[in-house]
Amino acid sequence: MAGITIPVDLLPLDGRFGAGPSKVRAEQLDHLMTHQGLLGTSHRQAGVKDLVGRVRTGLRELFGLPDGYEVVLGNGGSTAFWDVMASSLIEKRSAHLSFGEFGAKCATSAKTPWLEEPIVVSSEPGTVGSFDGDEPADVFAWPHNETSTGASAPVTRVQGADPSALMVVDATSAAGGIDFDVTQSDVYYFAPQKNFASDGGLWFALCSPAAIARAEKLGASERYIPPFLSLQSAIENSRLNQTLNTPAIATLLLMEAQLNWMNGLGGLEACAGQTSEKAGLLYSWAEKHEALSPFVGNPDHRSPVIVTIDVDDSIDATALTSVLRENGVVDTEPYRKLGRNQIRIATFVGIATDDVERLIASIDYVLERL
Ligand SMILES: *Cc1c(COP(=O)(O)O)cnc(C)c1O
Repeated sequence: MAGITIPVDLLPLDGRFGAGPSKVRAEQLDHLMTHQGLLGTSHRQAGVKDLVGRVRTGLRELFGLPDGYEVVLGNGGSTAFWDVMASSLIEKRSAHLSFGEFGAKCATSAKTPWLEEPIVVSSEPGTVGSFDGDEPADVFAWPHNETSTGASAPVTRVQGADPSALMVVDATSAAGGIDFDVTQSDVYYFAPQKNFASDGGLWFALCSPAAIARAEKLGASERYIPPFLSLQSAIENSRLNQTLNTPAIATLLLMEAQLNWMNGLGGLEACAGQTSEKAGLLYSWAEKHEALSPFVGNPDHRSPVIVTIDVDDSIDATALTSVLRENGVVDTEPYRKLGRNQIRIATFVGIATDDVERLIASIDYVLERL
């Protein structure tokens, strides 16, 4: 099995295709070095506060935030934000779309002693479900992109929902790579280790005025909210370009570099064009290949940032991904709990189109020899 050497001229120049943490571009590391004087300095002083401010402004520009929307951040990554949601956004009851691991985990976080049982609309991995609209919920939550399956759901306000209900979207792997209208969401949250090619550990949330009002209302209510999970406190800190506790400065610098680059490419629309182009190469190759097929049946739901491709049972996908790994092409394994004979390839903004083409050539080379 072992011992397939992919010719160097076929190999991607950068072999990182993981869904997160994802490829960090060399220019981001240069940025880190240029600003190395900030590392090891107080996050309560102007240097780091200005950095937080530039990241917030960069996000505002990238997403074209309307007046009233605010960029809020805190520590703990997207998983921590699920608990922020349960503590600081859901008033009585939430409704969730669950069509993969991340949507399901978010729904589980809303099962708490102080909330009513969440309503969960489940559908098979590889599909995208939808709400009826008459669910009695004050938060509607779903992933923009389900990273475990490569299915992408639209960001549109739920028709028929109570007008005061908040639309809370997990955009961890989508943010920056899929174009959408931010006014269709009240909270669009993500962590920086995917399209933003930084390290994990922080969460960012684009919050509408209604979401800010909800956080204030719950913050002032009788509910016990641990300080770490208080969105109200995060909003107040973010307005001062601060976080409740110490943030990772290197993570912010890597993110700043990527944001500058993405805005320089032409913003969200341009970034989304690039991810779609790369994903399109993979989907059309898989459709033509006799041993491969896109996992997500409905082309409208095929993710432009996470491409999942089923491999025919006659070929062991694990053998394929192992050979790729031995050749320096890493993290093409499927989501661990999905349990399919599959490969999963991230086509985030920072991954070069040329490298996606090389990856295709490399996989063709290995498939002919397995
Ligand atoms: C990666 C991911 C998460 C988890 O992010 P962490 O920062 O590791 O908590 C959550 N949701 C989605 C959709 C993801 O892709």
